[in-house]
Amino acid sequence: MSALNPIVNRVVGTLVKEDWLDFMFSHVNPMLTVSRVVARVVAIDDETPDIKRFVFQPNKNWKSFEAGQFVSFRVMIDGSFRERCYSLVSAPTDNVIEIAVKRQPNGKVSNWLHDNLSVGDVIELGDVGGDFVLPAQLPNKMLLIAGGSGVTPIYSILVEALKRQPTLDVAVMYYANTDKDLAFADELVELAVKHPSLKLNYALAETGITGRFSPTQLANVYADYAERMTYICGPQGLMGAVSKVWAEQGISAQLKQELFGPAALSSDATANDMPITLRRSQQTMLNSKASILESAEAAGARPVYGCRIGMCKTCSCTKVSGVVRDLVTGAIDDQPNTQIRICVSEPLSAVTLDI
Ligand SMILES: Cc1cc2nc3c(=O)[nH]c(=O)nc-3n(C[C@H](O)[C@H](O)[C@H](O)COP(=O)(O)OP(=O)(O)OC[C@H]3O[C@@H](n4cnc5c(N)ncnc54)[C@H](O)[C@@H]3O)c2cc1C
Repeated sequence: MSALNPIVNRVVGTLVKEDWLDFMFSHVNPMLTVSRVVARVVAIDDETPDIKRFVFQPNKNWKSFEAGQFVSFRVMIDGSFRERCYSLVSAPTDNVIEIAVKRQPNGKVSNWLHDNLSVGDVIELGDVGGDFVLPAQLPNKMLLIAGGSGVTPIYSILVEALKRQPTLDVAVMYYANTDKDLAFADELVELAVKHPSLKLNYALAETGITGRFSPTQLANVYADYAERMTYICGPQGLMGAVSKVWAEQGISAQLKQELFGPAALSSDATANDMPITLRRSQQTMLNSKASILESAEAAGARPVYGCRIGMCKTCSCTKVSGVVRDLVTGAIDDQPNTQIRICVSEPLSAVTLDI
């Protein structure tokens, strides 16, 4: 419905509520919306035993993105909206968008997408975001480290980097359990054939091929790894081990990381056993030395959340009072009535939230 020109859009917007218009349009064509981005599923394919690839045709409200960025998906499950981020694996210039989703044990949205989404369905998208992207000027040498489903933004970045600089000296190290768990395996080999400057190596835990990550293991494959601008996305264990080695070698500045899971929590929370009050739901629970979101969940509350790493802002709410630390920036917020993201906020005093 961005076909409506901006002036008509503004006039209509002031006269009638956008939600109501979208509701009416949805009876004619669910792809017609005033400004919301929705997308129709055009293909679903099994990539590995637990990863599916989903291709979508977005409506006219879709704006582009940069390779390595993610978009949030909103789905209705059991009467509640859930929002999760997925890295885009299609190229920014494609007219369709694609994601690859790994089924997580007991995960709500990943299992729902695997089990319920069909070709022809229309789904709502939220914001595009993330700074896990290439710099304007490519480095001379790159190392891309992927683990499990963390290959998604790595693959996207690799494709874009080679598009910009076909002879770029880029090395890929991809950690997976077995060769059956390697996503984008065919595409990666095709890229390596097309670009002789691309070095491709797999480390398969169960078969022992090249072994598990250690500085020695990596150096055996890429002796010059410490000279390369490195991008990594994978399980927390792998990312933690890599960032520790990079820190020990004083090269953290050339390591760029994308985390799919919750932020690491600081271990020096001082407000253990301090109350967290959810004012509107009239619930009070004790801080259990974790993020406010996790303390609330541990006590049986179910605040809405999305990425769990402070990026999508789905869990953003008003802190009425109390002191919290932002686990991503380290900033301490002791002001009343401020917006906080509870997935990455650690209470430092009793806290009251407008939830
Ligand atoms: C920037 C970004 C990009 C991403 N890109 C991708 C991608 O390309 N592909 C991909 O597959 N994923 C990606 N993810 C991860 C994705 O957003 C979801 O987190 C993932 O699909 C799991 O969501 P879920 O709803 O299935 O699991 P959730 O229901 O959120 O649960 C996740 C895990 O936590 C456990 N859990 C849930 N609630 C609790 C609780 N109260 N107590 C204890 N344990 C609990 C579950 O058992 C499960 O194992 C990305 C995440 C981010 C932040």
